[in-house]
Amino acid sequence: MHTHSDLQLLVNSAHEAKVRQGVTLEVLGQDGLSYAPVTDDVLAELRRQLAAWNDDPPDFAWTWRTVGEYLDRLDEGIAVNACYLVPHGTVRMCVLGLDDRPPTADELADMRQLVAEGLEQGAVGLSAGLTYVPGMYADDEEVIALCEVLRDYGGFYCPHHRNYGLRAIEAYGDCIEIARRVGVPLHLAHAHLGFEVNRGRAPELLAMIDAARADGVDVTMDTYPYLAGATYLHAFLPRWMHAGGSTETLARLRQEELRERLRAELEDHGSDGFHDVPIDWSIIVISGVRTAPAERWLGQSIAEAATQAGRRPIDFVCELLVEEELGVACIAHIGNEENVRSIMAHPAHTAGSDGILVGERPHPRSYGTFPRYLAVYVRELGILSWEQAIRKMTSLPCQRLGFTDRGLLRPGMAADVVCFDPDTVRDTATYEDPKRLPEGIPYVVVNGRVVIDGGQHTGELAGRALRRSQRRESSPARRGA
Ligand SMILES: [Zn+2]
Repeated sequence: MHTHSDLQLLVNSAHEAKVRQGVTLEVLGQDGLSYAPVTDDVLAELRRQLAAWNDDPPDFAWTWRTVGEYLDRLDEGIAVNACYLVPHGTVRMCVLGLDDRPPTADELADMRQLVAEGLEQGAVGLSAGLTYVPGMYADDEEVIALCEVLRDYGGFYCPHHRNYGLRAIEAYGDCIEIARRVGVPLHLAHAHLGFEVNRGRAPELLAMIDAARADGVDVTMDTYPYLAGATYLHAFLPRWMHAGGSTETLARLRQEELRERLRAELEDHGSDGFHDVPIDWSIIVISGVRTAPAERWLGQSIAEAATQAGRRPIDFVCELLVEEELGVACIAHIGNEENVRSIMAHPAHTAGSDGILVGERPHPRSYGTFPRYLAVYVRELGILSWEQAIRKMTSLPCQRLGFTDRGLLRPGMAADVVCFDPDTVRDTATYEDPKRLPEGIPYVVVNGRVVIDGGQHTGELAGRALRRSQRRESSPARRGA
């Protein structure tokens, strides 16, 4: 339900990391940031901003600009099925660039138009990344105006909410209020309720979700079965560091006179990029870099690496981001196991890896999420039954996505089938050795074609882009805009 394979599915279309886990369908366009729809300028900016999620392969052919063209490109050959959410941040960049201000009425109409076009071309919903630039520049009114377009087309709203730390519960509440007000289905992305300030607060979140569901708001969510988070390192910088785009961010990172303000915001007060929680550099581990000299930092925390380099952590971070032109991926050890367990046991919870496939030492969730649910949380701990865990990975996601012909084993349904051994299925990827493939999943069938046969990839590219089921002939949102 949540993954960052937007480019890697095209670069390495065999997609072994995922298909070996039994994945047959991925939901792309997450966190408000992906590569369609784009203009040439927006694409250039996003390639740099998102390099630590998706890489930026030098010879890659960027043949698409619209959502429809991107889905057509996926149709040219991928191992698993994929569907797409229109990313709010990307849409905002197309209309307002990276300006930190509300849109004018005309600009908002243009954004609504781009969302409507993406949905008409087959996207299944709208994603938002409200702690990332430029999603964090949007107020609720802007989000509501775009969700209204969704309502007319029958897609769902999938936010990375405004704050994962100090104000996480409040931020989830905001998302629910928007869904209630507009009348759209809501899917909360990676709702893991991490950070020390939220320890033990899962029951509050789940009570809020239960109350909303009882009240008719259609809420679902996903998490991955790990304690750490992962993203690009410059996501933690305060919003003013991002104004004007990556070239200006890099210029500010070089400015010594800004260093103390930056240090105080990150370390003493908590930057809005780090969810208003003071950052502890010992829990932030470097997982991916761009240049060979920086590879020596892989697997080390910022605190360790800075000590070795003889620099203060804040100086080390700024200098590394400059050297790598922002292409630094990191793993943040912020999770609470009791929250992870409580949330995954909820009936509205679905599985999602949030997998980031690039970098030398990626988060193990990219290679282990789905077998880990089965091995650890079903077989070892008994937190989920087999039936519950399987539903979270099959029928419930397909219901949320609106794919009524998938997700169940029944005559007439699409043959996306996984055959695993309940006694031996397990993840083997670890933080130290994250690219190890799982065991106990001998067969994976996608659209009726065998992609994993006896544990080996057959080379079949059996997947295709799945487009939103059409509900309406006309496009009321376009008229309304
Ligand atoms: Zn994500």
